[in-house]
Amino acid sequence: MTLSIIQGGLAGAQDAPRTIRSKTPLTTPSRKATEFSPSRLLWARDHSMMTRSELAHAANVSVSALAGYEQGRTVPAPATQERLAEALGIQTHFFSLEELDEICPEAVSFRKASKTSKKHQRAARGDARMAVEIFHLLEKHFKLPSPQVPSLSGFTPTDAAELVREEWHLGDRPITDMMSLLESKGIRILSLDHRYTDVDAFCFTQDTTPYIFVSTAKSGERQRFDLAHELGHLVLHSDDDESTGSKEREKEAQDFASAFLMPASRIYTQNMRNAHIQRIIEAKAYWRVSAMAMAYRLHDLGLLGDWQYRTTAVELTKRGYRTGEPDGIIPERSQLLHKVFHALDKHLTIRDTANALGIQRDILRVYLRDLTIGII
Ligand SMILES: [Zn+2]
Repeated sequence: MTLSIIQGGLAGAQDAPRTIRSKTPLTTPSRKATEFSPSRLLWARDHSMMTRSELAHAANVSVSALAGYEQGRTVPAPATQERLAEALGIQTHFFSLEELDEICPEAVSFRKASKTSKKHQRAARGDARMAVEIFHLLEKHFKLPSPQVPSLSGFTPTDAAELVREEWHLGDRPITDMMSLLESKGIRILSLDHRYTDVDAFCFTQDTTPYIFVSTAKSGERQRFDLAHELGHLVLHSDDDESTGSKEREKEAQDFASAFLMPASRIYTQNMRNAHIQRIIEAKAYWRVSAMAMAYRLHDLGLLGDWQYRTTAVELTKRGYRTGEPDGIIPERSQLLHKVFHALDKHLTIRDTANALGIQRDILRVYLRDLTIGII
């Protein structure tokens, strides 16, 4: 899958999908010492997962003074800004950059919202805002693929999965590289912070551009399934009227992922009825899905009976397929980010990008973690 990523020529590019907001050059971020953005202070505190009193202590300010800065009632002196920045692990000029885009809180939903701590939810929503910032910056230097994700709310997950395959001309063969496919369709993908042990992945749409955060702490097979699951949300729930409950939406996204990665029409030609365990393991390698997902799909299509599905699941668990993926695939990488940060002659450096965003390189590296190799 080739990505239509074109070096340079952004500012006026006719089909640049969105307005370019910041005029900050990449290497020389604007510094207006008189300006201070309370929303950026809040972002940084959410990201650090510190309480107000923890930050006040770390930056040697009073809790009430900090509340005043956060609520925009007072502006901290430059020396205080330095201490806040140091405590928060960001660069001081971060506070004086343009306001971060607002993201509708409902736009970011979590698979197990009830089990996701508020602290993690706030930090993850902050990551969503930073993702928009990161890709706005990249779009100043590269022409990234325009979004081409169909909106199919109201369709069944299976029909929607078939329609997306049709629209993207995928036939009914296995998808070689889910991540590159989604990137080529304009979905921006970043790595989910491994601190959020209670979040698997999440997606949102901002200004018509879809974004996915995916956990790279899992097997390659599960990462592909998570990407397909989030694609399901983007396709089925982008105009969500909230009439479907969150449990139902999760089931729909799971069913979409299953049908999208393993189309029924081809599986029916593969002689999978009452498939033996070894046959399931071969098939899961062919479809590049987990053995558990393969067995589930066969059961769902009526090719494995209830009893057989249960004994298969028990056997797969014994062989280590519930907690991992023995002899699994190499996890997919981001071709888009690789090109942006490595491959092209005038690639971006992590240092310059982090400076332009006002964050430390380590924070940026977390967003790119495992998606590109050997980030410098
Ligand atoms: Zn979900």
